[in-house]
Amino acid sequence: MAWFRKPKYTTIPVTQRKSETSEGLWIKCKDCGEMIYKKDWEDNLKVCPECNYHFRLNLQERIAIVLDKDSLQEDDINILPTDFLNFTDSKSYKERLKIAQEKTKLNDAVITGTGTINGHKIVIGILDFNFMGGSMGSVVGEKLTRAIEKAISTKLPLIIISSSGGARMQEGIVSLMQMAKTSSAIARLDTSNILFISVLTDPTTGGVTASFASLGDIIISEANALIGFAGPRVIEQTINQQLPKGFQRAEFMLEHGLIDMVVSRKDLKQTLSQLLELLS
Ligand SMILES: [Zn+2]
Repeated sequence: MAWFRKPKYTTIPVTQRKSETSEGLWIKCKDCGEMIYKKDWEDNLKVCPECNYHFRLNLQERIAIVLDKDSLQEDDINILPTDFLNFTDSKSYKERLKIAQEKTKLNDAVITGTGTINGHKIVIGILDFNFMGGSMGSVVGEKLTRAIEKAISTKLPLIIISSSGGARMQEGIVSLMQMAKTSSAIARLDTSNILFISVLTDPTTGGVTASFASLGDIIISEANALIGFAGPRVIEQTINQQLPKGFQRAEFMLEHGLIDMVVSRKDLKQTLSQLLELLS
């Protein structure tokens, strides 16, 4: 009978509807739970005004807050990732790459090039966590190595801004080789007396922490960023002990001498500019 048929449309109960207000104009802080007016949050560089929680930025936002406007000249834009292991887990690596490329409009998880910070010319590399967790495979390793070599040949200071889950497992041992490759390039940079500032942002973990990101002449971290090698749960299970409060956060790392400075996002550009002024 006609009136028992399912209607062509369904309605969502009022209690389940997301109001335009909560979806469009307000954002909930992931740390303190406070509702923040979205415009204020954006004006505050995506930092919670209540608790100073630093939300993650995408690559374009990071470029905008660190580099002088329109100063970035990208290098090696045509180096593309390859699925040389024909790797498949729940999805094929080819498919994962395609999804990440469409989502981020990037070829891979890093951009490199030259730019200026308050007029100081630098070579820069920035990783984007939105591209497969900012993971380091052959393209990230190769582009960063070329950037390091460019800093050596041009004698410009190098800044690498990391946000990464570590090595890219879909590229197997080739991704692990990038740790040695980038680290040995940094050693050559060091011999050439070129300044390298490593900036860690939330999160910087795994093979990236265990290679170039920890080799800066100066290592800066954004406030409250997660920095570590293995995740806290794995460590807890291995050592069978409860970890101290704030473990693997930037402030904890500073207290234990693993990094040199913790900087709020709004001060990052100015801090980098002062260090360049003083040290290069
Ligand atoms: Zn907050």
